Amino acid sequence: MRRYIVPDEASVEAPHLSYEDKHALNRLTAYGRSMLEGSSLRCGCFHCGSSFVASEIADWMPEEDGADTALCPYCGCDTVVYETKDYPLSTALLSKLYLDWFYTEFEEREKVATYVPTFSTYDDYLRQGIPFLMEHYESDEIVGEVDLFRVDAPGNATGFMHEDSGAWQAKDLAGDEPGGMVKIVVHRGGRDFALEDENIRVGTYFEFIDELGRRLPYELWSPDQEDCVLNLVEKYGTKLRGVILSPSGRTMRLVVKKVPAAACR
Ligand SMILES: [Zn+2]
Repeated sequence: MRRYIVPDEASVEAPHLSYEDKHALNRLTAYGRSMLEGSSLRCGCFHCGSSFVASEIADWMPEEDGADTALCPYCGCDTVVYETKDYPLSTALLSKLYLDWFYTEFEEREKVATYVPTFSTYDDYLRQGIPFLMEHYESDEIVGEVDLFRVDAPGNATGFMHEDSGAWQAKDLAGDEPGGMVKIVVHRGGRDFALEDENIRVGTYFEFIDELGRRLPYELWSPDQEDCVLNLVEKYGTKLRGVILSPSGRTMRLVVKKVPAAACR
């Protein structure tokens, strides 16, 4: 789909929208022609996440009871909002509106996504417009799905990796909820470390490295899931990638590029 998504600056606050806000913003989408046509008002579409100025709108949907309704110049949907004093336009705002008004579509897309760009926090996820940017590529095959937990979650009995400062280099991500595409690194040798004067021996362990080279603060949920990932690493080697879908889901999808079928004669 054609679209033009402009990520927000890190200083942009992801808006908190009440029920009334969501409906007020939805009402902005209708009957806009007399105000928007040819104007330089900043607009955005909460179906595809694109930003544009009102003068780029070329198609209008006739309304029987008022001025025409704007159609998005990128996706053609009647989901165009414009900037107002109460609602400054941002990609984070468009992401939130998409998740509110198109949640079923979002869920359907997320169910089959094989590519999700890197994000660091929930607000970052919204500011970059990641709900719009996740993709399902035909050339990818989903080969599994596992659960993760944060190693620094309070009361997490098995979250000992975080205490192991020698192995832990990503403390700056503590408190964040990073995700996106990850490389899965398996350490089979095992290692020892001291935790509160006790020596602890860890067997095989995993690291998840994102596209920025950061080691993410997650571990696999259970020994069964570790076995599942180990089997897939053995089968697919470095072709296997993890996709951490969302800041809250803690689900990692396992994806490989499909090998093109041999040509038949
Ligand atoms: Zn659009």
